[in-house]
Amino acid sequence: MTDELVGRWYKDKKVLITGGAGFIGSHLAEVLVRNGAHVRIVDDLSAGSLQNILDYRSLVEFQQSDLREEGVAAKCLDGIEVVFHLAANASVPHSVNNPREDFSRNVYGTFNLLEAARDCEVQSIVVASSGAVYGQPDRFPIVETDMIRPISPYGASKAAVEATCQAFNASYGVPITIARIFNTYGPRQPRFVMYDFYRKLRQNPARLDILGDGRQIRDYCFVADTVEALIQLGRLDFSVCEVFNVSSGQSYSVVDVARAMVDIMGLGDVEFCFTGESWAGDAQRWEVSIEKLTSVTGYQPSCDLYTGLRCFVEWFDAHPERISTG
Ligand code: NAD
Repeated sequence: MTDELVGRWYKDKKVLITGGAGFIGSHLAEVLVRNGAHVRIVDDLSAGSLQNILDYRSLVEFQQSDLREEGVAAKCLDGIEVVFHLAANASVPHSVNNPREDFSRNVYGTFNLLEAARDCEVQSIVVASSGAVYGQPDRFPIVETDMIRPISPYGASKAAVEATCQAFNASYGVPITIARIFNTYGPRQPRFVMYDFYRKLRQNPARLDILGDGRQIRDYCFVADTVEALIQLGRLDFSVCEVFNVSSGQSYSVVDVARAMVDIMGLGDVEFCFTGESWAGDAQRWEVSIEKLTSVTGYQPSCDLYTGLRCFVEWFDAHPERISTG
């Protein structure tokens, strides 16, 4: 997807990104701003940061608000044509420890947005769901029609988000598309497996503790590709609430990621130590079909794991202040 195409679709469009100061939202905002969209961001900065949007802060309208508060959604939807709804708790472990907060942010925040959207002329709302809705599937690759059986509060709250979207689409015609995003990584991401490995290896380049047995399989998607998928979905106009897997379609084990990271960081012999048990809510295997996304939108992931990881490492090498010491 070229800048020219994005410009053709989004130039002068009034776009709202909820959660736009977060990891994926800030990358999405950057691409849209660069191509002439008028971007409004609403974010309560509970997990996101103004640092993420520093480079183009003066080019976006930023509103620090919590979508769960009354009146916030209606205010931020005013005059908006396209919405990317990313605001959420995005962490499975956090949801396991704080299920009430997870449901409140993810489900109630989404409900408020959709309730306000009933009275607006919004053309398209892309809602970020998650591969976590599938839980631990027993058939691969995972397709959109597979059964939803979440195994974490996060997966359950995203399933409830999806059900709310389906209901608002069917009952009130709110134009919604659901993006079931899988493991996305890239610069500015302050958590998840890549960040965990990078931080640990910087502290101790001789040894890496890996949660679980290292054999968990994931489809890792570089953030620029996830952003491309969202941009593609935002320009389409479906009468029903369509669901799309969003990922790279390329699966790797956690050990593959660790080996690639060690190589890119230029480290020699690193001892891998497995904790044996992973965290609650962690699925063992996710291999994803993105055929629906590619055939409907023309989306093509462009970044392989090695290239994406190199970009990740180079960014954190250049921004040591963004690495937590805890
Ligand atoms: P993130 O935590 O970096 O971004 C979420 C943003 O939402 C944060 O900036 C946070 O401050 C904001 N936010 C949370 N609750 C809010 C509220 N009530 N009102 C306003 N703002 C609020 O997470 P991310 O990784 O960028 O994920 C973006 C979306 O994609 C989320 O919906 C997440 O569940 C989904 N997703 C992400 C991944 C991934 O691998 N990163 C995978 C699957 C799904």
